[in-house]
Amino acid sequence: MARLVVLGGGESGVGTAILGLKKGFEVFVSDKGEIKDKYKEVLEHFGIEWESGQHTEAKILNADMVMKSPGIPDKVPLIKELVAKGIPVISEIEFASRYTDATIIGITGSNGKTTTTMMTYHLVKEGGLNAGMAGNIGDSYAKMVAEQDFDHYVLEISSFQLDGIVDFKPHVAVITNITPDHLDRYEYKFENYIASKFRIAMNQDEQDYLIYDADDEVLVDWLKKHPVRSKLIPFTLKGEVEEGAWLENDTIKIKLEHKTLEMSTDILALEGQHNVKNTMAASMAALLVKVRKETIRQSIQSFQGAPHRLEKVLKINHVEYINDSKATNVNATFYALDGIKKPIVWIVGGVDKGNDYSELMPLVREKVKGIICLGMDNSKLMDAFGNVIDLMIETYSMEEAVKVAYKMAERGDAVLLSPACASFDLFENYEDRGNQFKNAVKNL
Ligand code: ADP
Repeated sequence: MARLVVLGGGESGVGTAILGLKKGFEVFVSDKGEIKDKYKEVLEHFGIEWESGQHTEAKILNADMVMKSPGIPDKVPLIKELVAKGIPVISEIEFASRYTDATIIGITGSNGKTTTTMMTYHLVKEGGLNAGMAGNIGDSYAKMVAEQDFDHYVLEISSFQLDGIVDFKPHVAVITNITPDHLDRYEYKFENYIASKFRIAMNQDEQDYLIYDADDEVLVDWLKKHPVRSKLIPFTLKGEVEEGAWLENDTIKIKLEHKTLEMSTDILALEGQHNVKNTMAASMAALLVKVRKETIRQSIQSFQGAPHRLEKVLKINHVEYINDSKATNVNATFYALDGIKKPIVWIVGGVDKGNDYSELMPLVREKVKGIICLGMDNSKLMDAFGNVIDLMIETYSMEEAVKVAYKMAERGDAVLLSPACASFDLFENYEDRGNQFKNAVKNL
């Protein structure tokens, strides 16, 4: 019996273990940290052997195949040793894809993955396809492959998942955009991170499609130097393309495989230019798996978006409160500031991943009337914006930040939580930060 060792006992690890068991592997799950109780229960239920709080090398180095969870870096000695011994180390999407013939739409990028994935899933479901949604979202893909019988999957895929693929081949791939992120995992080389994202297309051939943001210079330059076999389908907000999606007088125009589709941006439930792009990408992905254009046009109006992404919370005294807690880098915040057409009281800060705030400066000068810093260390924000914005206040809890925002904002303004930073200094994660914001707003 072949031995499958799963490193990491989280959602993707436990899903992989279940699928591995079903496919006849002898499975062992090992997690150096603490496995959550809910996952321990699942492993017990299936009678899968596991360990928590340690890696017993003798039980790992005898594997025939290893599935490594995305959180574990390649540079960890144990992984290096496995690779040196010639044991294949793969990711969950690689493992699960070996056991399904479903048509795959794979979505990656630095920002907009979750939104585009959820939107695409919404369109294909409304189009009547028997589809599952997985990846970084919700249930594990491997578990779905083990327990369901979908013939389409919409997958949100991180660069870490792509690092561990061998044969994974989506029929439709989407790269939303590429901006520097996670560079600590890529030897601080942006090229390595870009290359990792483009692995989504490495097994595609002429029958497959790569949908990408043609306004993103990083993407376009890379494609010039590193051609792919897939059919390239651009989307753009600047000018027209022969085949793909573009914008003309506030109308999205799509020309793709002899089909045309037009939609006014007025009908979109989500605001902001970035969501026009996400809509273009999702609509084209849906068209390529044969969802009817009338269905796309109708369903796009009812898509409500994912929480913590430019999520409208409440209007109080004609002030709109918006939760964009998921904006953990400068680029995401750029789109938030760009998309909101009102004077903004901006709540920002947290753990800075090496941010360069200069690209925000024109928008901040134009729209931001006050800044509320919310982080353990706000010095970088103070340095960046102190000379530009008179009203800057430091706070150390969400409740305090929201109360200050309430006092600062006037009729017609928006209060925007868009931190441009990670949340770990004051919060458990971005969801916790967004939920605390929503609660504080509701308690005003
Ligand atoms: P991801 O899953 O890639 O992190 P999300 O859809 O969760 O992306 O969005 C993360 C943040 O990026 C949110 O603040 C959101 O408003 C913003 N965003 C969404 N789509 C885009 C896009 N196409 N370009 C830039 N920022 C985006």
